[in-house]
Amino acid sequence: MAAPDCLIVGGGIIGVSLALELAVEKMAVVVLERGAAAREASWAAAGMLAPTSEHHQHPAMEALVSAGSALYPRWLSSLCQLCPLDVGHRTEGTLVVAFSEQDFADLTGLPGERLTAAELRRLEPALSDRISSGVYLKNDQQVDNRRLLDSLWQAATRAGVGLRPRTEVRALLSASGRVTGVQIADKSRMEVDIVVDAAGAWAGQLGEAAARLAPTRPVRGQMLSLRAEPAPVRHVVRSPRAYILPRASGRLVIGSTMEDAGFDKSVTPSGLAGLLAGAREILPTSAQCAFEEAWAGLRPDTPDHLPILGATDMEKLYVATGHFRNGILLAPITARLLADGILGRTTSIPLEPFSPLRFVTRGPRPVSSKL
Ligand code: FAD
Repeated sequence: MAAPDCLIVGGGIIGVSLALELAVEKMAVVVLERGAAAREASWAAAGMLAPTSEHHQHPAMEALVSAGSALYPRWLSSLCQLCPLDVGHRTEGTLVVAFSEQDFADLTGLPGERLTAAELRRLEPALSDRISSGVYLKNDQQVDNRRLLDSLWQAATRAGVGLRPRTEVRALLSASGRVTGVQIADKSRMEVDIVVDAAGAWAGQLGEAAARLAPTRPVRGQMLSLRAEPAPVRHVVRSPRAYILPRASGRLVIGSTMEDAGFDKSVTPSGLAGLLAGAREILPTSAQCAFEEAWAGLRPDTPDHLPILGATDMEKLYVATGHFRNGILLAPITARLLADGILGRTTSIPLEPFSPLRFVTRGPRPVSSKL
C-alpha cells in the first residue's frame, strides 16, 4: 500500500468503523492494533443497541444516541454488501423488569410501554413469577458484537484498509503544533498526515498530548454465557442486577459488572456469583443451563462519561474514544461524524459537547473548530 493519508491507533469497533468509512471515501487508511485482532472492549461487550434502556440524561448524548440508533440498520446493510456475514442483528426489543415498587419507580422516565406481570409472562413465559411489572422498549436492538467485529475487519480489508495487528503505538509524534506520525514499540516511526487516537481505555497512554486530550479510564465489566437450546426468551431482559441476551446460536449472554479495577481484566468469583444470581432471579431455569464461558473487558470511560470526539489543538490529530457503555451502538455514527470532520464537511449534529478540548484548561488555541 502507498503511504497512508491517515493512521488510526486502535483496531476496536470505533477504529475499524472509522477506517472503513474513510476507505469508502477513497482515503488510504492504516489501522495499528496492539493485539492479535479486536479483542478488547468491543469483543467483550454484550451487543445491546439500547437507545432508551440506558439512561442518557445529557441532551447532546441523547441526540448522538438517537442518531446512532437510526443509522444502524442502514450501516449494517452497507456492511453486508462488503461482507455478507450474519451479525446476529435482532429487533425484538428489551423488557426491563421490576421485582418491587421501588424497582418500578426507578424506571420512571423510560419511554416505553408499561406492562403488568401477566403481560410480561404472556410475552416471555419463562420469566420468574416474582417479577411484578416492567417496561417494554421496542426500539432496542442487539447484534452479536464478535461476529460484527469479524465482519468489520473483513469488510475493511476488502475496502483497502491496511490492518496491522500486533503493532503497538508508543507515542504520537508532532512538530510545530501539528501531528506528524507515531512511534511504534519496535522503535520504528510511521509518518503520516492525519492520526486518530481510537485506543479505547488506553487512549490517554500515547504520550503527553493524548493524556491531555483523551483522558479515558477503564471500567471493568465481567460477563458470562450459558448454553440454552431452545432459547428460553426472545427479548433482551434487564433487571437492576443483570441482563440476559438470547443469541440465535443458543447462547445466553449475561452481564455485567461495573468495577473500578484499573487495567485488570480478571474474572472473579464474586463477579460471576452476582451475575448468576441476577440471571436466576430473572429466569429461574437459567440455573440448570450449561455454563459456557466467562470473560471481562474494559469500558473506556471519561471524566464526564461522554465520548471524546473530534479535532484537537494539535493540527491533524483527532480523537474518537470514551464511548463507555455505548460504543457498539455509537460506532457507525462516530465513524460518520469523524469522517465528515476529517474530510472538512459539516457534521450532521454538533460535536462541541464531545470536543477533546473540553478537558484542556491551558495550552494553545484550537486550530480548527470544525468538529
Ligand atoms: P476497544 O474495543 O477497547 O478497542 C481499542 C483498541 O485499541 C484495542 O483493541 C486495543 O488493543 C487497542 N490499543 C490500545 N492501545 C494501543 C496502542 N498503544 N497501540 C495500538 N493499539 C492499541 N456497548 C454497547 O453499545 N452495547 C453493549 O451492550 C455494551 N456492553 C458492554 C459490556 C461490557 C462488559 C463492556 C466491557 C463494554 C460494553 N459496551 C457496550 C461498551 C463498548 O464495548 C465500548 O464502548 C466499545 O467497544 C469501545 O470501542 P473502542 O474501539 O473504543 O475500544
